[in-house]
Parts: sequence; structure tokens; C-alpha cells
Amino acid sequence: MNTTTITRRRAIRFAYPTKGQANLIDRTIGCARLVYNLMLETRIASYQSRFGMPDAQGKEPPPTPRLYKDDYPFLIDVDSMALCNAQMHLDKAYRSFFANPKSVFPKYKSKHRSRQTYTTNCIRNNIRFENGGTRLRLPKVGPIKVRQHKRIPDDWKLKSVTVEHCPSGRYEATVLFEYETQAPEPVHPSTFVGLDYSSHDLYVTSDGEHAGYPRFYRQWQERLAFEQRKWSRMVKGSANWSKQKRKVAKVHERIRDMRMDFLRKAANRISESYDCVCVEDLDLHAIAQTLRLGKSTMDNGFGMLRAMLDRKLVEQGKPGLVKVGKWYPSSQLCSDCGHRYAGAKDLSVREWACPECGAWHDRDVNAAKNIRDEGRRLSLQ
Ligand SMILES: [Zn+2]
Repeated sequence: MNTTTITRRRAIRFAYPTKGQANLIDRTIGCARLVYNLMLETRIASYQSRFGMPDAQGKEPPPTPRLYKDDYPFLIDVDSMALCNAQMHLDKAYRSFFANPKSVFPKYKSKHRSRQTYTTNCIRNNIRFENGGTRLRLPKVGPIKVRQHKRIPDDWKLKSVTVEHCPSGRYEATVLFEYETQAPEPVHPSTFVGLDYSSHDLYVTSDGEHAGYPRFYRQWQERLAFEQRKWSRMVKGSANWSKQKRKVAKVHERIRDMRMDFLRKAANRISESYDCVCVEDLDLHAIAQTLRLGKSTMDNGFGMLRAMLDRKLVEQGKPGLVKVGKWYPSSQLCSDCGHRYAGAKDLSVREWACPECGAWHDRDVNAAKNIRDEGRRLSLQ
């Protein structure tokens, strides 16, 4: 039998710490940030003393949180694993900076701009669910009231927890579980679907199905614009300004949650209905910039959907997403006879008739069909 280990993340969306617990969480976040910044400072100093040369084969021991405990005695009051994780994050950022010339040098974390989080690991059951899953016990902080949406199977192992103090003021705990599962039987693909990216409706399938972003999503966006306008008129730094800032953040978080929920459902539906999913290999970032579709392109998260789909397909033993080259003229070919019609290049042409065979095409569905057929050809090669 073929057994592989799959790592799964499970988000426990809401945590309701008491006032005292929230205070300790904030202090832990602050200490993790402080240690991160101190270690970065130490590293920059030694980097400059080496005239910008990377440390030869890591001979110089990297700084550890222990180095700062004499100068900052309050560091011992918080969960020490949170500080270890800060060290690991910095090590990772540092290594990738030297390994990848494109990556940027690690930056100092800011109290206002950086995400307010810390991560802690489970050692000898020190993090666990209690009280029938209604409490999550964290080192030093104690049992926090949480709300879970699904029951967690007994054989899942709790690995780590990331606690976040969100800009809206709420607390979130994301729990990482690990569990063993049998590798799925490989599926030989027999059903194919193409997805054409659509800036206003996320995607259209080769079977003519539209993603159909829910209308309430647009309504929340209008609400966001309204709250943002209100915020921009307030005196920066005033009490009302801070209150409004949290309000804006709350709407942002609400929209993010709705979007993730929508994308997850779409990815589930598609990955369960088809064996093989074909998409265009688009550079979504470039599209957003050149077409000035910025907002809707970034919003509708086609990139996120692609990543979710790929993961879900692989989990079922199906081939992952098949990507069709970005120069493939999916919108110009007639999906019936293969004739290339340059007149369809223009984005404003929503429907067209093939001059060769007379077939009537909806622009997006026709493109999705071409993507499906080209993807099938590529995957059967
Ligand atoms: Zn035709």
C-alpha cells in the first residue's frame, strides 16, 4: 500500500480571548516582532562588516532570541516558541535573499504596517483542544474560546498555531494539522473542461457555465467604497479616524471571507465534475496593469482559484491543472472548424459568426472550448 503524508491547514476563524489573554497575545506578537528586528539588526551589522559578502558556508552562527534576553528581560514572559519561529522566519527570508537574486532584503517589521501575528509549535501536547473542541489551549495564554465549523478527526496531529490580531480588532487562530492519508489511485482523465478567464465574471467554462459572482459581493464593495470615503475625510490620527479605520478593515475582512468561500466552492464543484481542467497560462499581474482592470482582476482571484483547483485535483489523483501557452490564440479560433478569425481579437466583440463554417460563437465560451481542446491535446501527448 502506498501511504503518503499530506499537510493540511485548518483555519479556526474566530478566537475569543478574554481581555487578559488578548493582552498577552498582543505582547507575544510585539516580542516576536522585537526579536525579529533585533536579529535582523545584528545580521545587517555583520553583513556590513563583511562588505556585503554573504556569510561563507554559514560559519558565523546566526543570532538567536537568547542573545537579547538580558537587555529585554520581559521576553521570558511570553511563549518562547513564538520567538523561535521569528528566528526561523528571518532565517528563511535571509536564505532566500542570497539564493534568489530577485528577492528583496528582509525588512524590519512595523507595528502598524506588518501583519500582527505570531506562530507557536505544538510540543508534547502543549497545544490542544479542550472542552469538546470549544477551547484551544495555547502555551502561557491558556485555554481560549474558539469557534470551529467542522469536527476534526481524531487521527489528525496538531503541529502549530498562528494567532493573528486582525486590523478590524478580531482575533483569529489558524491551526496546522498533519495527517496520513493513502495516495489516491491515479485517474486516467476522460472528462475535460476549459476555463476562460473573464475579468468581470471570473471564468466561463467550455460547457457555457459562468462563475456568477454573487450580487451581494458587489454590494459589499460599494459599502467598502462608502466607508473608505468617509474615512478619508476624517482627521488623521483622531479617535474617530481610528474607529473608522477598524470599520474599513472589518468590511475588507468580510469581503475577503466571502471571496474565499466562493472560490473554495467553485474549486470543489469543478474538481469533482471533471478529471482534467485546462486554463490559459496568463500572467494575471501583467493583465491587471496593462488593461487597467486592476481592481476586478485582483479582486476576483483567478490566480487563487487556479492554485486551489490544482491542489484539489491532485488530491483526487487527477492530473493537476493543464496550462495552455499564453500565445495560443484561444479567442480567435473557431471551436467548430478551427478557422482563425482575426476579427475576434478585439475585446469588444462579444459574439461572432465564423466566416468559414457559419457557427455562431459567444466569445468566452468559444475561447474556453479552444482552451479545453488544446489542453486535451497537450495532456494526451
Ligand atoms: Zn468555423
